[in-house]
Amino acid sequence: MAHLDFAERGADLELAGIHKRFPGFTAIESLDLTIPAGSFFALLGPSGCGKTTTLRLVAGLEEPTSGRIRIGGVDVTDVTAYRRPVNTVFQSYALFPHLSILENVAFGLKRRKIADPLGLAHEALRLVELDHLAGRRPAQLSGGQQQRVALARAIVNRPALLLLDEPLGALDLKLRRQMQLELKSIQTEVGLTFLHVTHDQEEAMTMADTVAVMNKGRIEQLGAPEELYELPRTAFVATFLGQSNLFTGDVVAGNPNSITVDVGGTAIVVPLDRAAKHTGTVSVGVRPEKVALHRSAPAPDGERNVLGAGRVVDVSYTGVSTQYLVEVPGIAGRLTVFAQNSGVGHSASLGDEVWLSWRVEHGFGLADEA
Ligand code: ATP
Repeated sequence: MAHLDFAERGADLELAGIHKRFPGFTAIESLDLTIPAGSFFALLGPSGCGKTTTLRLVAGLEEPTSGRIRIGGVDVTDVTAYRRPVNTVFQSYALFPHLSILENVAFGLKRRKIADPLGLAHEALRLVELDHLAGRRPAQLSGGQQQRVALARAIVNRPALLLLDEPLGALDLKLRRQMQLELKSIQTEVGLTFLHVTHDQEEAMTMADTVAVMNKGRIEQLGAPEELYELPRTAFVATFLGQSNLFTGDVVAGNPNSITVDVGGTAIVVPLDRAAKHTGTVSVGVRPEKVALHRSAPAPDGERNVLGAGRVVDVSYTGVSTQYLVEVPGIAGRLTVFAQNSGVGHSASLGDEVWLSWRVEHGFGLADEA
């Protein structure tokens, strides 16, 4: 019986000193990246940051201006696209409309004269839970099902590396969230190396074990989703990946384990190991859900940073939580607070006088200035 052999794991990918210049425009600035075999890796960034160009370089659809690309330790920089051990799943499924689902998945295998193409195609369809629809035409499937066929068609070739270019972009939000979890579990099952490109931070965080945040042709920060979220190193990462309250001021005291930053007359303490820069003018921050709202000044306890008194200038109820915007004299901009609507903790109304606090260990200090 046909059998897709996934015992063999995907290959690692190495981009070394990649630079890509289009006429009059540099899309990729000196990119160095290693993606371990069998990992689910996301390249995350805003439109135009160079994600698709990176993917096209790996697929062999673009040539780097300089630098080398290695897959499984083999230099493929000068290898043509169709000879690379790579398959790509695009946002548009590009299924053949006149062929059945089964024939669509088996198409490439037949062309390459692989033994038992239909048996292998059935197995790939079972993996994406669509084997019962094998006889249908693409037009008879929903968008999410068509995307799963496109995935089966890519996986059936057992590429060492699967490239996914915004593959869920055409799906509605609910289906997209469902497909994210399915894609992740399929990747875990087949063990291939997935390189996924997206501008959706939640998508990258949900699926990938490692995320590289790209901005203007460079990687700003790379790490596990929790690491990037809890400890952003640049203002771009702190604001692109979720929301942050950021403050800029001068370091006034260097203690053995922390820095103290004077922000408009208020001292903000950040643990040394959570601050990327320890002297001069620095930007420090805290995530909105880490900030507590108080209706009276909290007693100083040395473990919390306290700001206030401020005033609530906006309240938005979002179901799970309420978002407060607070203005504090001496602090530029408005602070954002997410408070869980759990029935415990403080709540406030528009115009109320409030104090804000957060545990020192929840703050972070950036390498650049906000
Ligand atoms: P999106 O999410 O919108 O697809 P992206 O991060 O994938 O964005 P790329 O498609 O990689 O971005 O493009 C990066 C930059 O390179 C963009 O500013 C784009 O205009 C430019 N670019 C891409 N291809 C070419 C080309 N063939 N010639 C000139 N400039 C190009």
